[in-house]
Order: sequence, then structure tokens, then C-alpha cells
Amino acid sequence: MKIALIYPPFRHKMFNENLALVDHEFGRFPYISYGYLACEAKRLNHHVKLFDAAATKKSYDETLNELKKYGPDFLAFAAHAAQSFHDMTSWAYLLKKDLGLPSLVGGYEAKRYPMEIMAHDCFDFLCADDISPFFEKFLRVFEDNGDYNSVPNLYYRTDGRINHTFNQKSISFREHPIPDRSIFDNSLYYSHVSQRKNFTIGFSSIGCPYNCSYCCMHDSGFVPRSAEQTADEMEECIKKHNIHEIDWFDPIMLFSKNRIYKLCSIIKERKLDIIWSSRTRVETLMMAPGDPRPDEKFLDALEEGKCKRLFIGIESGSNTVLENVNKVIELDKIRPVLEAANKRGIRILGFFMLGNPGETMDTIRQTIKFSKQLPLDYAQFSMTIMKPHTELAQKYMTDIGKEDYWRNYILGKEKEKALPMPWTKLTRAEIEKITLLAYLEFYLRPRYILKAILKIRSLREIIRYSKVLLKFINSYLLSKIKK
Ligand code: SF4
Repeated sequence: MKIALIYPPFRHKMFNENLALVDHEFGRFPYISYGYLACEAKRLNHHVKLFDAAATKKSYDETLNELKKYGPDFLAFAAHAAQSFHDMTSWAYLLKKDLGLPSLVGGYEAKRYPMEIMAHDCFDFLCADDISPFFEKFLRVFEDNGDYNSVPNLYYRTDGRINHTFNQKSISFREHPIPDRSIFDNSLYYSHVSQRKNFTIGFSSIGCPYNCSYCCMHDSGFVPRSAEQTADEMEECIKKHNIHEIDWFDPIMLFSKNRIYKLCSIIKERKLDIIWSSRTRVETLMMAPGDPRPDEKFLDALEEGKCKRLFIGIESGSNTVLENVNKVIELDKIRPVLEAANKRGIRILGFFMLGNPGETMDTIRQTIKFSKQLPLDYAQFSMTIMKPHTELAQKYMTDIGKEDYWRNYILGKEKEKALPMPWTKLTRAEIEKITLLAYLEFYLRPRYILKAILKIRSLREIIRYSKVLLKFINSYLLSKIKK
């Protein structure tokens, strides 16, 4: 059979946590879950082709023509985030009308909102868990036109009714194969801070043991793949796909130090020509709980293991605000850790959130000031929104007796809008304005600019930075004119 994987473009929304111009400049990333699906389909001798219109910037009509030439047996879609759900369904409806092919939808939101997603009749089948063990059974039944009741974790439509089969636990993340990156044109992808080509993303672990109220990553607990599996994936990236930079999208990759020590030593041993980055908490770079000194030995291992960039959630310069979001960090202990990482050539991006519970203009000012005192290579300022499946969203709904906005948004009962932030007296407009100012204050410091120029390694980086900077200045001036 031929399976077409559809990945439509998505646009910035009013409820997004980032300013529109930041969202536009993030980069282009492969939707790596399709790599796991492709692996499974190929193992069963089926043919898979990805139509990544988000990366190729192909229009709907161009994609439709290519699909007609390919002649798939069915289409697969990804409901990977509530925020981009309707970008995806708008293409699914059009393709249903133009091709009339059966369609399957999966992804993170398909596990959370299966009935709401199946309310859209552009989808015939929904996979409510990971692709394994679902896919093998689903493809067999689909091919033979057999009994769908034998397929686990499936929602399907018969005579206008939605049926749900039985739940079966998926295999652990540890047992997943390496995602098949041959379906991607790996030369297309980059992040706003990436340095090498080809570039890709991956997951070496899922979940997080912490419990920050604005985040939904803690629901599965921390599940790591082994250091060997992670190194094998990096080696395959180099050998099969000429990939030399990987951004591990794990929520907290460095959580288990032993695993990372081992990974770095394998990278060194095998002389892997690949640099990598990851997200982590600053505590993972400290000696131990209760000993906040930089862990110099661990940082040495990261340097030798080619870790070139760390994305660290600092969030606020106010202890009160941090306590309010259930993230307790000793603020004065952060700087020495970042300096120790910097010394080893590891670039640091600090994440900050503005508009948190209990936030005031004073605490935001404190955060901006704090961000400028830290030795950061980049800073990202986002607005705190009630993201789906977070404690913050839940609290808002129970406290004020509101319905689940995201559920209703997926159903089409709620429109896209700037979401209320009832946990602060500041207005959304005020937070948006100060977010833009935070970027300008952080990036337009002469010392920062000089340091950044000295670290630039390619023309591509210069063009990228200049473009973003000009856009910031432009949007600041526009906001002044509007006033
Ligand atoms: S914000 Fe980071 S540390 Fe907190 S729960 Fe999410 S992934 Fe974990």
C-alpha cells in the first residue's frame, strides 16, 4: 500500500505564547513522529511518502497535484497540538473533498481529545495511542477490509457512529526504533540558532519529573532511551542522512547524569561528527540537590561530547513568581553555572515567561533586568498562556467555572482568541508590549551585540540575526506609531 503523510503549513494564532514575529523566525523542524510511523510501515513492506508543505512552502494545489501523481491508498494526518489543529483540519477537509481517500489521524491531541477530533468527518480513523502496536493490526485489517474491532486504540466511523475499540498499552519509548529520517528532505530544516547542516531534531527521552504549573510534560514521568540507543541514532543521522547537528527536543534531557556521561563518552569514542543541543533545568548542571556549585566534571563531559547549546527555562527574576508556578530555583546560583558552561563554549538560551500568576510590572522589570545580568547567548521571552493539559489551564477552568477552551476549540465551538490571563492584573496588551520591549532591551545592548558578532561562525547566521533584529525594531516602531 501507499501511505501519504500530510503536514500542512500552520500560521501564528492570537493565543500563541510567542509574539508573531518570533513564531515566524523559529525555524523549520521535521515532524519526527512521522519518522516512527514510516519505520513501522516500511517494516511491513508498505510505501510511505511525506508531503511536508510547512517546510517546502508548497501550496495546497501544488500538494494536491503531487498527491494525485503519487496515488496513495490513504492519507495520514497529525493532531500534534491543539493550537495548530485547524490548520491541519482545513487541509484534511479539502483533501477529503478533492481525493475522497480514507484518512487516519494520530498525534498527541488524538490521545487527549479523540471524540472531539472524530467529530470532524474528514477523518475516518483515529489512533489514540502510539503507533505501535496499533499500526501493524490496523494496516492488515484495512488491506483485507476486515474487522476493525480487532485493532487496539482505534476510533472509527460506521454509519455515522463513532466506535472505540479496546485500549492496549503501547510499547515503552525505550523500545521504539530509530525514526526513519529518509522520508524527510533533511536539507530543509534549521532552527533560529542552529549552526550546521543538515539539521534535525529527535527525542532521547520523554517526560519530566518536575511539575511546573504551566507545562504538560510531566504527565508520563521521565522515560529515557539508553546512551547507546541515542548514540546509534546520532551515528545513523551522520551516515545515512549527512546530518551534523541534532536538537534533542526532550523536555529535560540531562536529568539522568549517568546516561549523559555515557552518551558523551560514546560520541567521543566513535568520533561522531555531530553537534547537539538540548533542553534542561539549570539544576542538572549543578553538583547535587543542596549543592548548587557548577558541576565542572559534568560540564567537561558535555563539552567533550559535543554539546554546543543548552536551552534553560529560567522563567522569572522574581522568587515569588517562580513559587507561584511551582518552579523553585535559587536565582543567585544560576549565574556561576551559566558562566561555567560558557567557558566551555556551550551557548545558553534562557527561556523567560511574562504574565505569570501574581505578575506585576515590577516583577516583569525584575525579570528583564535579571536576563541581562546573566551570561546568556540568547533569550526568549514568551507570554504565559493556559496551554492545553496544564495545571494552569485546569485551575482557571475550575476556579472560574469555565469549560475547557481547547476542547471547544477543537470541536469548533470556540474561536481563536487572545486567551484571558486571570492570574495577573496586567492586561494582555500590556504583556505583549513589554514582551517586545524585553527583546529589544536584551538584544540591543552594545556589549551583547559585540559579543554575538564575535561568536558568529557563518554568513547564514549574520543574515538570520540581522533579519530578526530589523523585524523587532520595525515592529517596535509600528507599535509607537499606533500609539
Ligand atoms: S517546564 Fe521544564 S522542568 Fe518544568 S515540568 Fe516542564 S519540562 Fe519539566
